[in-house]
Amino acid sequence: MIVVLDPACSLREKAAVVRFVEQQGGRLLVTVVGDETHIGLIDAEAKALAPEIETMPGVAEVKGVAPPYPHVSREHQPGSSEVRVGDVVIGGQEVIVMAGPCSVESAGQLETIGRSVAKEGARMLRGGAFKPRTSPYSFQGLGEEGLALLLQVGTETGMPVVTEVVAPEDIELVASYADMLQIGARNMQNFRLLSEVGSQERPVLLKRGISSTVEELLLAAEYIVSAGNPRVVLCERGIRTFETATRNTLDISAVPVLKAKTHLPVIVDPSHAAGERSLVPHLARAGIAAGADGILVEVHNDPAVALSDGKQSLTLDGFANMMKELQAVAGAVGRGL
Ligand code: PEP
Ligand code: MN
Repeated sequence: MIVVLDPACSLREKAAVVRFVEQQGGRLLVTVVGDETHIGLIDAEAKALAPEIETMPGVAEVKGVAPPYPHVSREHQPGSSEVRVGDVVIGGQEVIVMAGPCSVESAGQLETIGRSVAKEGARMLRGGAFKPRTSPYSFQGLGEEGLALLLQVGTETGMPVVTEVVAPEDIELVASYADMLQIGARNMQNFRLLSEVGSQERPVLLKRGISSTVEELLLAAEYIVSAGNPRVVLCERGIRTFETATRNTLDISAVPVLKAKTHLPVIVDPSHAAGERSLVPHLARAGIAAGADGILVEVHNDPAVALSDGKQSLTLDGFANMMKELQAVAGAVGRGL
């Protein structure tokens, strides 16, 4: 529910509405939209007060239907958010490419990939040090050693680093090395983890769950932002459908749908959607054409021996070729890359 105040209402009237809701134990969110002040009634306690609020001086209208995710919705904040990671801005005019291996494997591997993708125009370095693997027998990541390598190669190549955090107790450690914390698809509804990354400062890359709806993704983002961290970027990475020709189905419509519903930046991960390297450039181009603010892509110097996701990792040359194509598409939709 949203209380729309009369543009001519006084400060005293505004304060009276806010005080009334707070005194009754309700939670609210105040935003200014053009010359209107909107007061979002967030929880059940606040919503129950709507009939009384409607009669208060200075109140123009109470709108009955509002998204259940006020902090991230465009209704409350019509202007798009930009999320800064080091010197990189996500959600601005420039499409940001984040590239690197699925897993950090060794210093040599990460240096080779990092230098190559930076040269071709990647702005951020990706790589997993704590890996959420389907099988307990698969490579689980190098842990802190991997984080140290990310910091080293990120610094050397001038790229801020994004890496996954899988457990609340690891947040402090991961945040001490990385510039951005990734919440993986499997953890999108790990609500403790969401609240914890919401109560620290590092920007968060939130990936859509394998079987999650757009609304569930937005509610997951709401957990982070309502806990105090507004620096959230959403990532469409493919969802599980009946189709088996690809690892997942890239929900390309989710990009414009999300852009319409939220002010948060939205990026696309073509690698985990495709599951197959030859498809990745096609999905990346589609993502940018659909309005994505960035691309998260897996690249490996020797995919045949990669410890995870080799099949979907671009080679160094493959990445260089894709970047040329992406530049053309970004230009066609009025963006830089
Ligand atoms: C990853 O980015 O390597 C990853 C594990 O992605 P997702 O959580 O989307 O499967
Ligand atoms: Mn991967």
